[in-house]
Amino acid sequence: MEIGNSRFANTGGKLEIITMDCIFCKIINKEVPSEVVYEDDKIIAFKDINPKAPVHFLIVPKKHIVSVNHLEMQDKAIMADLVFVAQKISREKNLKGYKLVINVGSDGGQAIDHLHLHLLSGKPTELP
Ligand code: AMP
Ligand code: ZN
Repeated sequence: MEIGNSRFANTGGKLEIITMDCIFCKIINKEVPSEVVYEDDKIIAFKDINPKAPVHFLIVPKKHIVSVNHLEMQDKAIMADLVFVAQKISREKNLKGYKLVINVGSDGGQAIDHLHLHLLSGKPTELP
């Protein structure tokens, strides 16, 4: 169902709002191109367009969750999925070590209002 700028998804009898202006939802829906490094039915990971390190991926749940502050108990598994996808990518790319960063809210440096985990490796110049 679409109303104005929003689409509503019926997930298990619950209406979930998806803002269609969301750049990450557009990447998930392949309306905006990205360099995808991992994808399954729940998670997508792609290269950050403005990398802060030689390796900089964004690991994103396909469900539109605004931030860590908006997580509900039913989303618990999604957080674990994000971390396990980071582990999987790090193994595939033979990363010796890496940083995982989540910015929360504009005061926490979050620019895109769709939950995402930064995976940085190879001497990050700054935190995203
Ligand atoms: P944050 O500040 O934690 O919200 O991080 C948002 C990240 O998304 C930044 O590192 C941006 O460089 C990145 N970004 C923004 N637009 C795109 C895009 N179209 N494709 C890939 N990365 C993006
Ligand atoms: Zn979104």
